[in-house]
Amino acid sequence: MKKVKTRTISLLILVLLMCAGMTVYLVKYVRNGADWASFSANNGYYTKGVLSVGRILDRDGLVLSEYGSEKGRRLFPDKKITRISTLHLLGDQHGYIGTGAVKNFASELIGYNLINGSYSLRSGGNDLYLTVDADLNDIAYQALDGKKGCVGVYNYKTGETLAMVTAPSYDPVAPPDDLTSNSKYEGVYINRFLSSTYSPGSTFKLVTTIAAIEKLPNLEDMTFHCEGSAEIGNGKVTCTNAHGTMDIAGALAYSCNCAYAELALKLGADTLADYFEELGLSESLSIDGIATAQGKYTMPETTNDLGWSGVGQYKNMINPASMLRLMGAIGGGGTGAELRLIQTVKSSVGIPTGIYKADTKTLLSADTAEWLTDMMRNNVEDVYGADRFPGLDICAKSGTAEVGGGKDPHALFAGFIRNEEAPLAFIVIVENGGRGSTVAGNVASTVLQAAVEALEK
Ligand SMILES: [Zn+2]
Repeated sequence: MKKVKTRTISLLILVLLMCAGMTVYLVKYVRNGADWASFSANNGYYTKGVLSVGRILDRDGLVLSEYGSEKGRRLFPDKKITRISTLHLLGDQHGYIGTGAVKNFASELIGYNLINGSYSLRSGGNDLYLTVDADLNDIAYQALDGKKGCVGVYNYKTGETLAMVTAPSYDPVAPPDDLTSNSKYEGVYINRFLSSTYSPGSTFKLVTTIAAIEKLPNLEDMTFHCEGSAEIGNGKVTCTNAHGTMDIAGALAYSCNCAYAELALKLGADTLADYFEELGLSESLSIDGIATAQGKYTMPETTNDLGWSGVGQYKNMINPASMLRLMGAIGGGGTGAELRLIQTVKSSVGIPTGIYKADTKTLLSADTAEWLTDMMRNNVEDVYGADRFPGLDICAKSGTAEVGGGKDPHALFAGFIRNEEAPLAFIVIVENGGRGSTVAGNVASTVLQAAVEALEK
């Protein structure tokens, strides 16, 4: 009898061990299976390190990337301008651009799934449709007109990123000889929209305004007076000219530094830091698994620094993608969709292999968003000029970020359009582009006209 008992226990232990082993294996399989399958030494899908299965298409079905077996490499789009405008979206021929779609969406292209494994191996991989419109990317790249910078446009209801462009770029089929030596290609492998941070300039005044709406109960009745400069702490805060007397809407429209320094002092550094975080500006976003750079709020050291911090001319840095998401949340009445790049993935016989849908995130209250929207519309009507954006009900804030070194400031223009059919948010940054609303505003106008047309077609 004792012998039987011992045997039973031994057997039980063996079964338990086997179960534990299976569990470990399954957990690892679920967690890492896609990575194992898309590991670049996996000869089933890679030829000499080049992913040899799967196609990437734009939202309209234009093929942007596929493997060309004759050439032994992945082919880029046929049109030169599209090769240039989508280079950072797809990734370069050497894999230097870390955020490219070919590299980051390899497992989707291979067609890996947990149940069947790599079921699409025989069929040459999946078709991955991006949310981006390649024509719109071309227009955005051309609108930057040779300047460095970036453009992002996305649908704040669905999360679809329609345009994502970074300059400088180059034609990957004929890379320039001076790519690594000419300063005009400085930072050419960086997707500035995803991986860079910029000084926000006066676009930061939106953060200060949101904090003021929520923390200063008498904001509506407050008036500000600007003589062109104000003593703040142990130094001055200056404006380009004397703005006179104005309310909060006027202060935002004329981007009055004196008024915003005063607001910053009332709010305090901790409040500004809290709102910077709450509004998602210090967060790294995950755009279908691609991580964006984090922005940073630097605590001011002096009262004067605090004044400049509320203006947007201190050391704070924002990432364009996070700023775009904030614009989407304001446009969406406080809640915006998270950005995404994958529209759908289909097997070779056209069957969707997954559900790609954006999550939403609430960044501010509906009341705050409504008030801010009115003010951002007022900016356009009173200062930027609504006629520069024909047919677009655009709400925006410009920014001019001083960069020092005798160089022209960076020009920023960010906002959204109110249009049920085309709920689009945008950000344009033109490095050393001069005044924000002029240069970057023109780029935004061109791109948004085309974006609305594209969505209506
Ligand atoms: Zn002023």
